[in-house]
Amino acid sequence: MRFICDHMLGSLARWLRLLGFDVLYPGPIPDREIVEIAIEEGRVILTRDKELSSTVKAQALYVESDDLEEQLTFTMKELELKVTEPMSRCSLCNARIEKVDKSSAEGEVPGGVYDRQEEFWFCPNCNKYYWQGSHWDRITRTIEKLVKS
Ligand SMILES: [Zn+2]
Repeated sequence: MRFICDHMLGSLARWLRLLGFDVLYPGPIPDREIVEIAIEEGRVILTRDKELSSTVKAQALYVESDDLEEQLTFTMKELELKVTEPMSRCSLCNARIEKVDKSSAEGEVPGGVYDRQEEFWFCPNCNKYYWQGSHWDRITRTIEKLVKS
């Protein structure tokens, strides 16, 4: 399942990407264009706009909460999503990220992070390194709880 998030859902878009989902986050564009892209690319619209979510032209989900963890758990529950490819997409650009040798992250990430973390990923598009920090641990714990409930 692929997605397009409206402009109100930037954090949700970033986290869905880190969890491995293909998510477009086009910035402020007219609703009609969001619907067009959703139809063309077969994407589900995630939106905080009730009117947009009621479109019958494409599948859409109204995300009411403005809390990231609530948005994530709600979306995953409603659409019955499963995380199968965590850490596979760049949260900034949606490109595939690659796991890299720890040594290649040396000097590229904060020293404390380098010491604590064993696994690193890299987006060749953004030249950005990723690791599973405390925020990641909290979010994945929240999702695990959701899956078990
Ligand atoms: Zn990127």
